[in-house]
Amino acid sequence: MEKNFTVKFRGVRGSYPTPVRNFLHYGGNTSCVEVVAGDRLIILDAGTGIIELGKELMQSFILSAEDFASRKPISAVLLLSHIHQDHIQGLPFFNPAYVPSTKLDIYGLSAGKKTLRDNLSAVLFDKVFPLGLEDVNCELGIFDFVSTSVLVLKQSGENILLNSNTVTSYVKKENDVVIRAHKTFAHPKNGSLCYKIEFNNKTLIYATDKETYMGSDKKFVEFAHGADLLIHDAQYTNQEYISSISPKQGFGHSTHQMAEETAKLAKAKRLAFFHFDPNHNDEFLSQIEAEYSAKNSHYFFAKENLEIVL
Ligand SMILES: [Zn+2]
Ligand SMILES: [Zn+2]
Repeated sequence: MEKNFTVKFRGVRGSYPTPVRNFLHYGGNTSCVEVVAGDRLIILDAGTGIIELGKELMQSFILSAEDFASRKPISAVLLLSHIHQDHIQGLPFFNPAYVPSTKLDIYGLSAGKKTLRDNLSAVLFDKVFPLGLEDVNCELGIFDFVSTSVLVLKQSGENILLNSNTVTSYVKKENDVVIRAHKTFAHPKNGSLCYKIEFNNKTLIYATDKETYMGSDKKFVEFAHGADLLIHDAQYTNQEYISSISPKQGFGHSTHQMAEETAKLAKAKRLAFFHFDPNHNDEFLSQIEAEYSAKNSHYFFAKENLEIVL
């Protein structure tokens, strides 16, 4: 098996897509990050960025063999931070989901008495899309994930979801991909998940739609400690956050400065600012990126199609 651990940004925009000329250097698609860990494909969120990823996966699938039955099936694990539109709106247009040989396992938070399956069915399919969730005819699994869950991906393709009782019996094997979550409470009301993906002695943290507290979010800093790459929400400037006319405090997003402070406290080796405000165009973001990357060459702004090797 390959030992590579790579991250490719497929959508970096927060709130809504910005398919507008002066926004395309950073990118107009909403949240989606493609992660490859050995032979496993993990997708973080299903904003509109997942659509192009789906097309590329289909292309590889078609080229893998001439006859349909011999083609190498697509296998992916999709981790949802939460089910706000900008994190799921690409999912009904993810073409591999309509290929019977595809195996797609989706993990995310349930909300109250509703399971993740109930919620995805209600907000993405049925009344708001021509197809129902039952028309997604791949081998589809939808699983509720909580902050005490641990998901182990075997290189063979097997996925093992452990809970607080079964996790104690798990013995980590070399090449296992281990996924844990940290729950934030501010955004939305029933919370959002940040994910930690560990593979081959490297750690990736994905923390979007996350607001930091005064004096830092100590539990999160502990969760993210020593990350090789921290992808962190960075939607607002300080001025926007505390604006007297329209303050963004409490909206569940961080400022660029909060992302920087969190990276410092967590001793993250690299920091990718992420989930950009749809009002911030390329010129505006470039200026802020220059300011932060001048302070530390390991800080950078996520850009659509940028690939990072961990
Ligand atoms: Zn968002
Ligand atoms: Zn959100």
